Amino acid sequence: MSATATTVELPVTGDRQESPEWVRISYASALALGFKSGRFSRPFPFGGINLLLSYDRGCSSDCGYCGLARNRPGEYEEKSFIRVEWPLVATDELIARLVRHQASLTRLCISMVTHGRAFADTLEITRRITAQVDAPLSLLVAPPTLNRDRLAAFRAAGADMIGIGMDAVTEDLFASLRTNVPQGGLRWDQYWSIVGHAREIFGAWKVNCHTLVGLGECDADLLGIFDRLLDQEIFSYLFCFNPEPDSRMGHLPKTPLQRWRRIQLAKFLLEERGLELSAFGFDDDGTLSAIAAPRALVEEVIADGHAFMTNGCPSSGGEPGCTRPMGSWRPTEAPRDFPWKPTAAETDGIRADLALDELIRPAPARTRPRERWAPPAAGRVRAHVDSDQGERA
Ligand code: SF4
Repeated sequence: MSATATTVELPVTGDRQESPEWVRISYASALALGFKSGRFSRPFPFGGINLLLSYDRGCSSDCGYCGLARNRPGEYEEKSFIRVEWPLVATDELIARLVRHQASLTRLCISMVTHGRAFADTLEITRRITAQVDAPLSLLVAPPTLNRDRLAAFRAAGADMIGIGMDAVTEDLFASLRTNVPQGGLRWDQYWSIVGHAREIFGAWKVNCHTLVGLGECDADLLGIFDRLLDQEIFSYLFCFNPEPDSRMGHLPKTPLQRWRRIQLAKFLLEERGLELSAFGFDDDGTLSAIAAPRALVEEVIADGHAFMTNGCPSSGGEPGCTRPMGSWRPTEAPRDFPWKPTAAETDGIRADLALDELIRPAPARTRPRERWAPPAAGRVRAHVDSDQGERA
C-alpha cells in the first residue's frame, strides 16, 4: 500500500461519483452550507467544514473501530463515519458554496482514506480549494499513501496543517486493531515516520495526532503520548470511542464519562497549565488516580471550560476552528466535547462527572519550565496563565 512515486496523474472517474469530482462532507457541514435543511439543536457559531474523500470501493484499511472499515458490512455509501451520515456532494458546487460562506469559515479539512488514488485526489482538491477560498486548510492524511515528497507537495499546494489519525496510542494496540486484521497492514513505525516528516515540513504547532480514548489503552499511555507530542510541539487531539454498529468493536461500551472527563482535565493541565507528567499519579492498571495540583487551579480550569471543548485545528485567529459537533456524541446526548464554551449548568455537570474529591491531591503546582511547553499565540485554544501559577496553592 505504501506509495513512492511523486508524479501526479489525475484520475478519470467517468460516471462514478468519486473523488476528486465528488466528496463527502460532515452532516454539520452540510447543514451549515445549505446542502441539507435543518438546524443545530442550539445555535452556535460554526465554521469548521470537514470533507472526506469518496470511492465506490471505500477505504482499503480495516480498522476495528471505524465506520468505513473495509470488512464492516454495508455498501460504502451506506456507511457512517463517526456514527453520522456524510452526504455526497459535487466538489465544484461545494467550493462555490465555500466561497459564498467565506466570512464564516474558521477551518477546512480534507480527510483522506487508504486508496490508490487518495494522494492525487487530495492534492487536486487542495489546489482547487486554496485557489478560491481564503480559509486555513488541514489535511487529515492516510500515511500508507504518503511519503516525504508527497507531504511537501501538500504544503506547496497551500495546506496549512497536517493531522495524523494515530487513534491507538500504543504499538500493541495499533497492531491488534489496524495491522494484524483481515485487511490490515497499517504500520505503527510508518505512521510515526509521517508524523516526523510532517513536523519538519509544516513546522511547530502545525501537526496534530488524533488519539482515541477507549480502545483498550490505559490513562498512563494517554498522558505519556500527550507529553511526548507536546515536547515535539505537536498537538494531540482527543476523541472519545463511540462504537460504530457492525464494526468489529461495535459491541463494546462507550468510554465511561468519568474517565473521559478526567482525561480531558489532565490533558489540559499538562498542555495548557504546564503541569509536569510527575504531577499525575496512576494505579497498578495505569488508571489516573491522583492529580497533585492546587485545588484553585483545577477549579479555575473547570470554570474556564476550554478543557472540555472539542480539540481541533484552530482558526486563523487561534480560536477553535474545527469543532466537529456530534463527532463523539449524538444530538440526544450531552456533548462529550463541547463545540461551544460550556454554560454554567454544563460546567456544574462536568464538575459532578469528575468526582474531584477522589482525584485531586492539593499541592503546589509542579510545572515544567515555560519554554518547554509554551505554544505560540495562534494555535492553542486560548491564552495561558502567567508565570505566577506555581503560587496558586
Ligand atoms: S482537528 Fe484538524 S485534522 Fe482533525 S478533523 Fe479537524 S481540521 Fe481535520
